[in-house]
Amino acid sequence: QQDFESRFRLPHITDIFPDSPPIPSTFCLKMRTPIGKDIPGHYSLDEEWHGYINNNDRVLLKTINYSSPKSAGAECIDPNCTWVEQWVHRAGPREKIYYKPEEVKAAIVTCGGLCPGLNDVIRQIVITLEIYGVKKIVGIPFGYRGFSDKELIEVPLSRKVVQNIHLSGGSLLGVSRGGPGVNDIVDSLEERGINMLFVLGGNGTHAGANAIHSECCKRRLKVSVIGVPKTIDNDILLMDKTFGFDTAVEEAQRAINSAYIEAHSAYHGIGVVKLMGRSSGFIAMQASLSSGQVDVCLIPEVPFNSHGPHGILRHLQYLLEMKGSAVVCVAEGAGQNLLQNTNAKDASGNIVFGDIGVYIQQETKKYFKEIGVHADVKYIDPTYMIRACRANASDGILCTVLGQNAVHGAFAGYSGITVGLCNTHYAYFPIPEVISHPRLVDPNSRMWHRCLTSTGQPDFI
Ligand code: ATP
Ligand code: MG
Repeated sequence: QQDFESRFRLPHITDIFPDSPPIPSTFCLKMRTPIGKDIPGHYSLDEEWHGYINNNDRVLLKTINYSSPKSAGAECIDPNCTWVEQWVHRAGPREKIYYKPEEVKAAIVTCGGLCPGLNDVIRQIVITLEIYGVKKIVGIPFGYRGFSDKELIEVPLSRKVVQNIHLSGGSLLGVSRGGPGVNDIVDSLEERGINMLFVLGGNGTHAGANAIHSECCKRRLKVSVIGVPKTIDNDILLMDKTFGFDTAVEEAQRAINSAYIEAHSAYHGIGVVKLMGRSSGFIAMQASLSSGQVDVCLIPEVPFNSHGPHGILRHLQYLLEMKGSAVVCVAEGAGQNLLQNTNAKDASGNIVFGDIGVYIQQETKKYFKEIGVHADVKYIDPTYMIRACRANASDGILCTVLGQNAVHGAFAGYSGITVGLCNTHYAYFPIPEVISHPRLVDPNSRMWHRCLTSTGQPDFI
């Protein structure tokens, strides 16, 4: 962390800061006392009140002192990542800015899969850029592909264009996987004269953003590359919560409730719901906790057997005998060892998973047929419906603040960083560190134990 400034500051920053352009008068954190309500954007300056973030402000990553390594949760601190016990830079507007707003051409790109809140972030980035005085703002259509595909034309963005886009899900700009190499992307940035790039995407997209930042540094281009992590799975290291997650948990509850009603209304009904979570089971865990209707929650981090005396099928039999119905909530990445490996990959090189929900449905049917017990199994896969949802209120706020802070980070002269929520504060994180591996549910954490207490399930091993 000591070298954060040298790694993530654009070159010649020390030459530029002394003559840094003043923040335009319409942009001021002191937006507390509007004078002349009919003149939007004009506010009085309260000289006593200083609302900027100092570059040395820090957000501490560790806020609890475990008195013993055996204390529940103490294992959650990754021993290999020593800097996590320290701090990151606080996000927000700086008094001195790196760019002259009239010289900025900003671009926004959204990559990977859909996630609730993408439009909210796009919207807020555009609005904040305009408040800084930026006139040239464009959207790159369909992810990184939009940089190389000559048929895809960049989309001019303004407050007028983005005003209502948060009212629907999806991405105004479209998304894609795969696409051009880093050199082609940076060539395209140069051709288009883009010097601020806002990249909304998951770990793959951020790996790309980091590579773009490195290539820009190599070519000594003054381009700020700023990420906003888009992962519905909530699997980014050190961040409390990523946008879309809250909405996903809320929507997942509807699917769980439907599965419960189906199961409860049938004789010996079993409802199976598959939720998102490729390597991390946060959605399945939180949705199970919040719904209170789940009897078995299965996540990628916790191995389980389906068959055998301690397997889930035997437990489902017990549940039918005991209470007549059961609900299983399974994360898409759970139990992959039980499925046949197809070696298939998507356009971005991600492994295509087998369908664990279908497996559980089929094996459950087979099992109860074999033992001669009636069971009515219903399988619900709401994943695409959830991804396409509009962000809920709490995600709407998160997206708004992340979008604003992404712009503040670019104007502060940072590049190669991503913005997130850490211990309830907004902070700038170095991209390589937060995507080195996915954040996982710790099977020894209090939260997973709470989930087990709520479902009442045993260890299936
Ligand atoms: P999601 O969470 O939806 O999977 P993601 O950002 O991980 O989001 P990917 O499809 O893996 O989605 O990647 C998005 C984009 O990032 C693709 O265009 C892909 O080509 C690019 N990308 C992925 N991995 C890398 C990498 N290691 N280096 C450079 N670019 C990458
Ligand atoms: Mg990914």
